[in-house]
Amino acid sequence: MAMKVTVNGYAVEVGDGSSVLDAVNKSGTYIPQLCKDPARPAMGACRTCLVQVEGMRGMPASCSTPARDGMVVSTDSEEVKSIRRGVLELTMAMGDGRADNPRREVRVAADAHDLAESRWANRMTPRKDETSPFFDIEMADCIMCGRCVEACNDLQHIGAIGILGRGQDTFIGTLHDEPITESICTSCGSCVATCPTGAIEFKRGPENAQKVVKSTCPYCGVGCGINIRVGENERIIGIDDDPDNLSSKGMLCVKGRFGTGFVHHPDRLRTPLIRDENGVLQPASWDEALDLVADKLVQYRGSFASVASAKATNEDAYALQKFTRVVMGTNNVDHCTRLCHSPSVQAMLVQLGSGATSNSYEDYENAGCLLVVGADPGSNHPVITSFMRRAIDDHGAKLIVINPKRIDLCDRAHLWLRPMPGTDVALLNAIANAVVNEGLMDREFVGNRTEQFDEWWKVVESCTPEYAEPITGVPAEDIRQAARWYSSPPFSGSCLIWGMGITQHTMGTRNAHALLNLALVTGQMGRPGSGISPLRGQNNVQGCGDSGCIPDSLPGYQGVGEEAARKFGEAWGRQLPVGSGLTVTEMLEAADRGELKAMYITGENPMVTEPDLAHAREAMEKIEFLVVQELFPQETTAMADVVLPAATFAEKDGTFCNSERRVQRVRRAIQPVGESRPDWEIVCDLARRVCGKLGISDEGFQYENAGELFAEMASLTPIVSGISYERLEEGGIQWPCPSPSHPGTARLYEDMFPIGPQAKFVPVEQGVPAAELPDDRYPIILNTGRLLYHWHAGTMTRRVEGLLEKAPEVRVAINPADAARRNIGDGDWMRVASRRGELVGRALVTEDVRAGEIFIPFVKLADVAANLLTNAVFDPESKIPEYKVCAVYIQKEEGPPELVEAGPRGVRAVRKRRAVEV
Ligand code: SF4
Repeated sequence: MAMKVTVNGYAVEVGDGSSVLDAVNKSGTYIPQLCKDPARPAMGACRTCLVQVEGMRGMPASCSTPARDGMVVSTDSEEVKSIRRGVLELTMAMGDGRADNPRREVRVAADAHDLAESRWANRMTPRKDETSPFFDIEMADCIMCGRCVEACNDLQHIGAIGILGRGQDTFIGTLHDEPITESICTSCGSCVATCPTGAIEFKRGPENAQKVVKSTCPYCGVGCGINIRVGENERIIGIDDDPDNLSSKGMLCVKGRFGTGFVHHPDRLRTPLIRDENGVLQPASWDEALDLVADKLVQYRGSFASVASAKATNEDAYALQKFTRVVMGTNNVDHCTRLCHSPSVQAMLVQLGSGATSNSYEDYENAGCLLVVGADPGSNHPVITSFMRRAIDDHGAKLIVINPKRIDLCDRAHLWLRPMPGTDVALLNAIANAVVNEGLMDREFVGNRTEQFDEWWKVVESCTPEYAEPITGVPAEDIRQAARWYSSPPFSGSCLIWGMGITQHTMGTRNAHALLNLALVTGQMGRPGSGISPLRGQNNVQGCGDSGCIPDSLPGYQGVGEEAARKFGEAWGRQLPVGSGLTVTEMLEAADRGELKAMYITGENPMVTEPDLAHAREAMEKIEFLVVQELFPQETTAMADVVLPAATFAEKDGTFCNSERRVQRVRRAIQPVGESRPDWEIVCDLARRVCGKLGISDEGFQYENAGELFAEMASLTPIVSGISYERLEEGGIQWPCPSPSHPGTARLYEDMFPIGPQAKFVPVEQGVPAAELPDDRYPIILNTGRLLYHWHAGTMTRRVEGLLEKAPEVRVAINPADAARRNIGDGDWMRVASRRGELVGRALVTEDVRAGEIFIPFVKLADVAANLLTNAVFDPESKIPEYKVCAVYIQKEEGPPELVEAGPRGVRAVRKRRAVEV
């Protein structure tokens, strides 16, 4: 119910639950509110927001006084101003009494009350902490409002800082008063963002922005809202969280807040490059480069493939797949989902009819049980981990982690199942078996909304927890407990959340089927607090698939059969190819056989991300004409014939779609660096040139702006047909959104599945755990994954100083028992060799990995890349490589690796091979 409040004679309306401060703010009247973060509940600690309310005694703190209909509030009487001034002086005196940070609220408040500095200034503490590469802590400026502690504990649920000490010596510090970098701080920066004085201040210091542009984080699939602060000379001076963003709700992680320095890095590609007759890449004009590419691609029609970038926008992706299909006449277009969640998509399409996350982040927060399988969201998707921590800490949700490696969430887990690598089907089948045998299955859901239960049960009936225990190494009783909590959470529903620990196996699709069967037998989807979530990796990997960059689907997963080809062919004015094209992994196989001769790779670096890099290099070297469109020179541009400079997220307009299917705007904040251009512009320019050489119409590639591309895609794609740039001005929208009046869909499968009224059980059996298991020669299992401070192959994050300072090199995580046996100490150099390659990296001796296993992040740092070792064997159904399991040998090494420069197609770093004594 709306309430009328009069503030200094002006009437304003506020909603139910509003405070007097809300009414004051709504009236446009300024009063200090130092301890109140605009996006957080009131703490009522600083009392600088005092007002007078007619009929009320004294001067209440407006932030903690509920508004009432008919209230009359005064903020500007001499009496109240004088009292507020006094309180403000005392508040300032909590620090050193100065308020000299021009960007901070305390300065604004002091100026509004004609206070240069406080008269008291008697609580100065000399404490300083400058150990973080991102921010400094200067206790002399602290007014003890507690906003930073609240942001760390109640918003992000990290708990790295608290109020320590007593009386005069009270201060904000870490547990045990250790330096912030040695604490559990994840450098999310929420404390810095909320600090009203600058006591916790960005390293770069206070700087006023000339403009602030709302956009979306360019890193992971969480899709957090950001406000880009732009300073002089078109430079990004900082990133703030966006409290209005419907997905991230005012949170960011370290990469989102501090990780965009790469935009201005001197390494940025600024002009097109063409390889000359001596094999050296030379700067060229756009006309020279694109005419050359067009000439060549005309020759290579029929043996061409493109790779889209899941970092680029939907509009970029849409343009590339349209070019590939319409102009190059092939469905050979794919993107990195092949290397992360293709098994999930494959399994979900078969069983449910949609390959996307079924729920929303808010379901994680409202769940009674979270089952997190083969994922490390604390490193890869930090902001949604905050929603999970809230569910556990604030609401009492149960957390079950299934992961061979210890992840941060294990600290909060009620149950941590640690299966042997590659035994997920046995474990998941056993949990499902226990669900049925303990009478915990959702009979109504299974009866009404599923089919093929009997066929499935025939396989799973014998997979008891006792049967699975010796295979998986997980105690039968733990398997039963997982079944109980997941099927019957203490309240609400259960969310099943998984990552690449499930998918990156030769059994990836079977693993995903086993997960979905578990969700079906318990009916844990389609209700608040429940659902299934394959956590999407890159910022726009969901959108890249939605936009049609898949060899077997046109935009909106409409297939590549005759009907879809006809529909799109009519719209695009060309006959389209029918039938599936090549996946990314098949492209390299085809290149190796000499069947694929030209490739156009945008924003990907297969020379770091492919498994078995030595073999991948051999295949790539057989490509006769390679075009790479990128932000930076990297391992794959080093092999290219033509390199095209692309614009970053901050230099173009468009949309990303995040892991909860929310389409959100990306907005140009600065002009593109050098001559770089948005991907869609480059693709369309190239398409027009190829069309000209082929003598066909280029009408379908004449877009004025990104919005026209989105509008065209929406007109052809039912899942997003109700979304437009105009609507996105109000905030992101979750697909399916079939009409302009549709609000979007927070939760799938409430009544129906896209395949019909009934989802399908798909029986799967364990089979051989992995293609390559340890033996006498290679006795250790290698697992790979990501790090908090780097993203993907590291092309962007290794060009951000602070991130590099936090994680400057690849560390090989090894169990203390394995390390001791080989006399390897923490920080020692160690050699890791597989049947395919070897690397030398520093040891990280930790209990996080089990004896007999090591973990290496797949980011490439200081020339160490885990994929030198991994095995290029594939899941037969989804074609995903088995990144998660291969056998390696390890030994202590006396010093760092030696490098040589080599390569017929330009300079590249190659590790000198040395015989490994085995
Ligand atoms: Fe960006 Fe992901 Fe971090 Fe959010 S959680 S700020 S989207 S990297």
